[in-house]
This record gives sequence, C-alpha cells and structure tokens, in this order.
Amino acid sequence: MSEYVICPYCGHQNAREEEHNIDMKKYGKTCFSCDSCDKLFTLRDDGDGEFVSN
Ligand SMILES: [Zn+2]
Repeated sequence: MSEYVICPYCGHQNAREEEHNIDMKKYGKTCFSCDSCDKLFTLRDDGDGEFVSN
C-alpha cells in the first residue's frame, strides 16, 4: 500500500489516512476529496491491485 494517492485531476499527492485503509478492507474502495483541487475520486481494489477511478 502506498502512503499517497495521486489525484487523477491535478496530480496532487493526497495523504492516505487510517479511515481510507479501513474502507479498503471493508468495501474494497474508498473516496478521496483532493486537498488541492477539491474534486472527488475513488480508490478501488478489485483483488488485482489498487487503482484510482473518477
Ligand atoms: Zn486534485
């Protein structure tokens, strides 16, 4: 697991919080609100690695 998640809109590195890791374990996905551009994106894990979708 990486420590940062890159925003797909602006490329900002958003810090990954404990709540994100909990969501990933529970639901296989978690939502981020970018610190830089305020847009929402989703980090998912389909069992074959994590990826960002918007
Ligand atoms: Zn952004």
